[in-house]
Amino acid sequence: MEHNQTEASGAIPGAGANPSSATLNQDIGQGRGVFISTYGCQMNVNDTERMYSLLEMANFTPVQTAEEASVIIINACSIREKPVHKVYSEVGTYRKMKEKNPDLRIGVGGCVGQQEKENLIKKQPMIDFVFGTDTIDNLPNLVAQVYENDKARVVNAKVEHRAPYHVETLVRNPGVSTFVNIAKGCDNFCSFCIVPFTRGREKSRPLSHVLMDVRTLVKRGVKEVTLLGQNVNSYHSECGADFADLLQKVAQETGIERVRYTTSHPKDFNQKLVDVMYANQPKVCEYIHLPFQSGNSRILERMNRGYTREQYLEKIQMIKKAIPNVVLSTDIIVGFPGETEEEFQDTITMVQEVGFETIFAFKYSPRPFTKAAKFEDQVPEDVKTERLNRLFDIHDIMAFDLVKRYEGLTLQVLVEKADSVEGKITGRTPENKLVHFLGSADLIGQTVPVKITKAFPAVLRGELVQ
Ligand code: SF4
Repeated sequence: MEHNQTEASGAIPGAGANPSSATLNQDIGQGRGVFISTYGCQMNVNDTERMYSLLEMANFTPVQTAEEASVIIINACSIREKPVHKVYSEVGTYRKMKEKNPDLRIGVGGCVGQQEKENLIKKQPMIDFVFGTDTIDNLPNLVAQVYENDKARVVNAKVEHRAPYHVETLVRNPGVSTFVNIAKGCDNFCSFCIVPFTRGREKSRPLSHVLMDVRTLVKRGVKEVTLLGQNVNSYHSECGADFADLLQKVAQETGIERVRYTTSHPKDFNQKLVDVMYANQPKVCEYIHLPFQSGNSRILERMNRGYTREQYLEKIQMIKKAIPNVVLSTDIIVGFPGETEEEFQDTITMVQEVGFETIFAFKYSPRPFTKAAKFEDQVPEDVKTERLNRLFDIHDIMAFDLVKRYEGLTLQVLVEKADSVEGKITGRTPENKLVHFLGSADLIGQTVPVKITKAFPAVLRGELVQ
């Protein structure tokens, strides 16, 4: 574990790490374990890492299970499913622990904390503190105040819509591959999405800060970074650089071996970005996650996505023309309000026409504050379920055929970790395929040639080329 803030984080002077540490009683964390239960998107996973890092700097010890902890935090995403119910049910499982251990404190953060604020404590008094997505850096102080005053607190669960976004990467053990936030929030207001309400309006980090983070991570042994934002394509730094400029600089000026990014928005994905990807291959990986959500233009308009089916397909053509080997994945919402069977068929033909190797498909579920939640023509649950299953069945067959092309090829695999089975290691190809093969753990962090012997949609099996 690293306790030195500058070493652990590559902190940028004045860039906002633990801004309130001057008032923090450092003894609060002494002898206390912290466990964070996380569900949601990569953004939430990154936030959890940030919370652990900040609490570790305040002398809390990250622990592996809730049973070992004095502080339990539930960091919950509210994009899908029934997040608030999940939080209540998880808190309920800690009842006995709370009764036996008067030192135990339970907190809720993430989008659910942002969305529900004091309601969480009103409905579930076992919760001691709630905090929003913009107040993570104040977490050590918040926890200290909860211990010192022994009273439930809700802290600034309010999104600062246009506050500067100076938040350096905090990651305790980055390993071979890690994520670097380049922006947060979103201005797009897709009619189904809660993100602009829970994470606020879009804010980009200064280009120089992102570059400094990546250089620091390289010094710590990181070989691959994924640039992360709700919509990376609308990144704009104070100096006028756009996302293509940032990608080029990260690839050329940091010493990193591989760069990825997620998530893209089709309306902002442009030729300049494709040109930068092409010019910087293989360092910039030939893999793009480009959510289309629906294959039907009327539904896309109701979703407020800002493009039609035809325009999406034109972008795909543009990408495939420049990068013929590109691997594509996407997000899809099935059963958006008003979606007819015919319109759903457009989603199926879109999947087939583009040839996505991976799809992340979900049934539409209404989210608070969003426009689509108020649409009256909601699709019945059983229809949504049937359509989703049908989509997965069709894609499963397609995906098996698509990945067959890897068999017999030799791919460059960046080794990430040793498997639980001794002698086996796992790495990732530029196409974002996981590969399992026999090899020594000494290869972790190296890029090695692996001949693919068997391809499945989610993983490949191969043999190290000696
Ligand atoms: S682009 Fe749309 S779906 Fe993505 S985060 Fe923004 S509002 Fe949500």
